[in-house]
Amino acid sequence: MSIAIIVHGGAGDWTIAAERREEALRACVAAAEKGRAILLDGGSALDAVEAAVNILEDCPVLDAGRGSYPNAEGNVEMDALIMDGRDLSMGAIAAIQRVRHPISLARRVMVDSGHNFLVGVGADAFADSIGFPRCAVADLLVPGEGEPVHELTPALGDTVGAVAYDMRGDLAAATSTGGTANKLPGRVGDSPQVGSGAYADNWTAGVSATGYGEALMRVVISKRVCDFVGTGLSAWSACESAIRVLEERTGGQGGLIAVDARGHVGWAYNTQAMPYAFAVDNDPVISAM
Ligand code: ASP
Repeated sequence: MSIAIIVHGGAGDWTIAAERREEALRACVAAAEKGRAILLDGGSALDAVEAAVNILEDCPVLDAGRGSYPNAEGNVEMDALIMDGRDLSMGAIAAIQRVRHPISLARRVMVDSGHNFLVGVGADAFADSIGFPRCAVADLLVPGEGEPVHELTPALGDTVGAVAYDMRGDLAAATSTGGTANKLPGRVGDSPQVGSGAYADNWTAGVSATGYGEALMRVVISKRVCDFVGTGLSAWSACESAIRVLEERTGGQGGLIAVDARGHVGWAYNTQAMPYAFAVDNDPVISAM
């Protein structure tokens, strides 16, 4: 039985120093390797995507966990979503502050809260009620992150995501972000919204999205990829087609990664770059940006 994992470090123009681009790509490779090790050990797709995203959340160059962009008030508000393709269960948080690993809190929402989605002060209270580790805002802010990198479009984040396919044929997807730079307090993008920032359904595919959230959510882009796979498209063609819909219907920019129900990976983006890495079985990790 085969396994597969694909991760991304955010679609954008990536016009930053070469060392920082390399650091982002190295984090993607490490995340794919970690996820693969879990999958080859018989671990679940859900465990693999959470562990892979934790690594990406720790990378200071990426806009999730440590390295998140500050909002217009200099605060950090993060969003995350995790989804289990077996039964469509999901956990999401939005505008959460002072946690290093928002995706792990989203998973606790899924498992322990009795709800699907918690935001703001409620998400904070839930985190504290389960003893989830908290950090200082200063632990999340990295000097240099959040400086506007786009002139034509609002600054996109370097949101992170992962999709995995395990030995039992189960799919899971996860997305975590600090959102867009200088966003208004309370702004929530596509990332934690089911069907937009991610979707996972064993019947079709698992997907994680990145890019300009105000556009991505209007085409419910991750669910759209799953629906395209359901009509017979490959994971790769489904991602390409969904990016075309995004572009033609909204003029928006973004990127996608996917794994279909047979373990085949796909990706697409219409930004200048998107670091990604994937591992299938024991084959060498493929990475690019
Ligand atoms: N989609 C994220 C958001 O709008 C940002 C990104 O992916 O770069 O919050």
